[in-house]
Amino acid sequence: MRAPATAQQLLDGYESMRAALPVARFPQRWSRARDLEELVDCYDVFFFDAFGVLNIGDTPIAGAARRLNSLRNAGRVVKMVSNAAVLPPLALWKKYRAMGFDLELADVVTSREALTLELLRTPARCWGVVASAGADIADLPGGLVHLGDQPNRMDDVEGFLLFTSLHHDPQARARLQRSLQQHPRPVWVANADLAAPRETGFSVQPGTLAQWLAQTTPVQPRLFGKPFAPVFDLALQRLPIGVPHTRVLMVGDTLHTDVLGGCSAGLRTALVVGQGVSAELDWAGAIDLTCIVPDHVIDHI
Ligand SMILES: [Mg+2]
Repeated sequence: MRAPATAQQLLDGYESMRAALPVARFPQRWSRARDLEELVDCYDVFFFDAFGVLNIGDTPIAGAARRLNSLRNAGRVVKMVSNAAVLPPLALWKKYRAMGFDLELADVVTSREALTLELLRTPARCWGVVASAGADIADLPGGLVHLGDQPNRMDDVEGFLLFTSLHHDPQARARLQRSLQQHPRPVWVANADLAAPRETGFSVQPGTLAQWLAQTTPVQPRLFGKPFAPVFDLALQRLPIGVPHTRVLMVGDTLHTDVLGGCSAGLRTALVVGQGVSAELDWAGAIDLTCIVPDHVIDHI
């Protein structure tokens, strides 16, 4: 299980799992704009991807916080729609506030919340939470086993919730693989991303672990977050009544999560190509290759 070394390898990884991703009807062609200033009159609501659009790793992208403020000052609704799943909602909100993003707690919508809501709708079972040792899971519904803190209990649980990639813990990864091979159980993945841009390159995300488990065990993990519907549904539920989906713009740097997911949810989409994943990609070629076509291509937000 390796981290992608390049944005092209990341794109290839998403294409290899394309059959498992939602389908969508894309626009015939995209239009080019410098930034969202040119699009502000076209939309009432702006959904922002986080990694690659608002921040790279723990570093905010210059001008991003200012753009969110200017959109809000122009009367637009602004929300973050992210596959960030490591932190509980309150802690994640505080992290983005500390980075300078003037967001309300309800403006931060994550795949972790989408998974939590699905847990509440599903008959209770003893889930094992695959998270780092000491990770806070107090926001998740009860009856859980924290496998980061109790790694020897893998065989006791009735299913697994993946919040980390285990990329730096090959022994834990092998134990999980063996446990699932011997006794297949449901695996839910809190973050469908294969990788995320950090200051020094890509960091491996739980989607990569899910892909590896799908290839090496009898289990087909269930993925949460973009491009899948529940996280978009959650964000749309937090909008004022009556906003048509066509007045909502999903802004992101990744074709297979932000653009495919946004389009599948019936939203308009903008691909950011001056920063994040697509900045390192022949993005025009990637649009042609994947036929995942955004409505707009912008350099920066
Ligand atoms: Mg991104």
